[in-house]
Amino acid sequence: MLRVEKACVSYGRTNALREASLTVNDGEIVTLIGSNGAGKSTLLNSITGVVPLKSGHIWLDNKELTGLPANKTVNLGLAYVPEGRHLFGAMSVADNLALGSYCECSRNRFHSLGYVGWFMRRPSVQANLETVYRLFPILKERKNQQAGSLSGGEQQMLAIGRALMSNPRMILLDEPSLGLAPNLVKEILKLLVRLRDGGLTVLLVEQDAVAALKIADRGYVMDRGRIAIEGTSRELLGDDRVRQAYLGKAIA
Ligand code: ATP
Repeated sequence: MLRVEKACVSYGRTNALREASLTVNDGEIVTLIGSNGAGKSTLLNSITGVVPLKSGHIWLDNKELTGLPANKTVNLGLAYVPEGRHLFGAMSVADNLALGSYCECSRNRFHSLGYVGWFMRRPSVQANLETVYRLFPILKERKNQQAGSLSGGEQQMLAIGRALMSNPRMILLDEPSLGLAPNLVKEILKLLVRLRDGGLTVLLVEQDAVAALKIADRGYVMDRGRIAIEGTSRELLGDDRVRQAYLGKAIA
């Protein structure tokens, strides 16, 4: 479904991605692990069009994404939950969710946010909203509350819910468990499995490599901008290099 071939990204003199290649097949959870600064966020940012590639190619199915800006990649079915969530804290939960359907808004040529109230009443948008509220009943309970007043776990649910409002085929998540209590991390990872079982394809960057590999079908280990190791989750969990470098004693 997604294919990244020899992606290179530089920030000035820093080569953040060095010919990184990966594939994600339809209906898989694929995880990207590696130490701090390995280039994981940069790879997600380049797929979603937030940072440009210096060289290399990205395809979604047979359509080339290379060079497309983020507002175009979301229209093609990619939804991104960035590190740090980037919610609009002073806006309500419902309005944050509404913004997640903005691509459908622009598809339908309603470019002004002033139309969102009207737009939200459209059956397709309402259906997405109902799906999000079914997945996260707490968001329905809190729909009129300011996003900034939610707990960390609720904010993460809102960030994922907002991404789902674009009715994506694939969701990319950058460290969704950051700052969450262990039981909430489990909840979020379980949810990703449910979404995958419902047909969504998932590319997950996660600092907790063991937890990520336990739910993923396959994984890639990044090191200094390159893909250093790849394999099925079972292979990676059993790989001595991975165990020593990234998993420590966690699965010993
Ligand atoms: P972490 O797990 O700490 O988030 P990461 O694997 O996601 O790390 P990136 O954030 O992609 O790694 O960073 C890769 C490299 O690019 C690092 O050396 C980082 O310092 C550098 N870098 C990232 N963003 C920028 C930027 N906007 N400007 C300059 N350098 C950057």
